[in-house]
Amino acid sequence: MDDIIHLLPDSVANQIAAGEVVQRPSSAVKELLENAIDAGAQSIQIIIKDAGRTLIQVIDDGKGMSFNDARLCFERHATSKISCANDLFSLKTKGFRGEALASIAAIAQVELKTRRQEDEMGAQVLIEGSEIKEHTLTTTAVGTSIAVKNLFYNVPARRNFLKSDATELANIEEEFHRVALIHPQIAFTFYHNGKMMRQLLGESFKQRIVSIFGNSYQEKLFPIEQQTEYMSITGYLGKAENAKKKRGEQYLFINHRFVKHNGLAFAIESAYNQIIPEGYHPAFFICLEVNPATIDVNISPTKVEIKLQEERLVFGFLNAAVKKAIGEFSLIPQLDFDYNTELDINNIPENSTLKIPTISINTNYNPFKSTQYESGRNRPAQKPVDSQEWNNFWENIQKTPVTEEVPSTVSELPLEKDNEEDEKITINHYLLVHNKFLLVKAKEELLLIDIIRANERVIYDRYLSALNQTPIAVQQSLFPETITLTPAKADLLLELRDDLLNLGYEIELISKGQFAVNATPHNEDSGDLQSLIENMLDDYQSNMLNHRLERDRNIALALSKQKRSQMKPLNSVEEVENFLNLLFHSMVPSVTPSGEKVYEVLNSNTLDKLLNN
Ligand code: ADP
Ligand code: MG
Repeated sequence: MDDIIHLLPDSVANQIAAGEVVQRPSSAVKELLENAIDAGAQSIQIIIKDAGRTLIQVIDDGKGMSFNDARLCFERHATSKISCANDLFSLKTKGFRGEALASIAAIAQVELKTRRQEDEMGAQVLIEGSEIKEHTLTTTAVGTSIAVKNLFYNVPARRNFLKSDATELANIEEEFHRVALIHPQIAFTFYHNGKMMRQLLGESFKQRIVSIFGNSYQEKLFPIEQQTEYMSITGYLGKAENAKKKRGEQYLFINHRFVKHNGLAFAIESAYNQIIPEGYHPAFFICLEVNPATIDVNISPTKVEIKLQEERLVFGFLNAAVKKAIGEFSLIPQLDFDYNTELDINNIPENSTLKIPTISINTNYNPFKSTQYESGRNRPAQKPVDSQEWNNFWENIQKTPVTEEVPSTVSELPLEKDNEEDEKITINHYLLVHNKFLLVKAKEELLLIDIIRANERVIYDRYLSALNQTPIAVQQSLFPETITLTPAKADLLLELRDDLLNLGYEIELISKGQFAVNATPHNEDSGDLQSLIENMLDDYQSNMLNHRLERDRNIALALSKQKRSQMKPLNSVEEVENFLNLLFHSMVPSVTPSGEKVYEVLNSNTLDKLLNN
């Protein structure tokens, strides 16, 4: 029998490769933008027609190509970026596979014009379905323009597979954002169907975020910055109170490349565990820099997935750094956090041993202490996290399947409080508005506090510690109140009875569905116990079903929600001081356990704004 194996013609091989590299118009946009950036462009124009179906053009002012390279760049495995396999581990460029242009040219009509600074004449190449139609000299500006026309013109199956224009355009914008965010120093203009949709000038990272997502982001973000010899983290985190039900603006960049990494996204999100209600997600814009030798970018043709050599270390480091940033910054609105975000990576010494980073939240943050405002970022690292505890933490994480949906429970990193005595807050005056708002003066600012929400935070923290360490003292009732519950609720109450005892409620079953409350928390007006317990059980149930809240947090949350408005009015400076000390003793005084804002800091900036609008 004859041999039956033969090599595929290049045009077919390229079309097959294109199936992976160019899935939709936005993938072509991404590849062209990355090439422009690799070419050192300072200014890039993107011109799109019909959501990329008929035209995708990228024009850059980068270094351009020689006459021959202008043709060679469409060959498969043609790249100027690496020359041996080892180069893969010292990548400084976005591209390296040498297949993007070959793939695009296999499934579209491509027109390339390019010129290098040193050449008088530029080159023009027309290529269609991998076939060169024209290769001539031309006059053109320094840099490169690539126009991709009629994408998938020869692959009807792919063309028919495209979604609506709105969806494809949204995908293109998303790719554009991913590239533009991490290259804020580059200017971009974006046109769709002849209309200028976006113009971005070279700017700082924070300004770029604001330019893309809107002015409100000025106030919604706080910075994160952490350096070790192994890696550097910089960027901005979204405040807890702006968390959304949808995973919205979540951008993680490693070595200036947008990446998707569920494990690392989880490391970031889980740092918010205590301060964001279940089911909500924070925004983040985080840039990691690591030695390129420690990551593998070459695990997917589109290069958005990566593999980290020291995954566990990076995970722990990132998680701790986010917690630290939250501890330092989320408590007070940062009105100006435009500080130098330049990355500074120390070289990793050969054979150096990798240490678990030693960071923890500053649990003693106190806005009434002026030095903390000033030295916020230079605060000495606190007690290092014990490595055994890290191991446990890590094991828990690994047991949790990493999926698109972040699992709702993760054990908290054990963070220890400093032993140093907390300073007590003192005030001279306070103002009450309807016993609902409290206005006090901190050092240079006014604090406007929602009393009921603050009370919820205080009670919640107390309940959590009562459930885990020190039960709340009880006071026996002379005439125990009886409560009546439906069978389902009665079962639930029996299940929670021991925990409720820790919280000061001693409950006894007297007959089917009937309970006696024999004792209530010491020194507390117990109020209407029937509705208190009933509502609490309702909340508990719904938290369990909807948010899969873990037991302790759920009980604390359900009960503090009921009790938050049962607070005695604040009647003296001492009472207000005590209340403030309780609130600011919390690790997260700024939000209630369900994510509502507890206070606003009013300084001259915010007041100016308030009065000028
Ligand atoms: P890769 O980016 O992986 O090298 P591509 O197929 O995207 O592969 O590009 C092939 C080569 O063409 C690049 O290595 C580069 O030398 C050249 N090239 C592509 N786009 C540009 C551009 N905009 N400016 C200058 N050179 C370019
Ligand atoms: Mg490329």
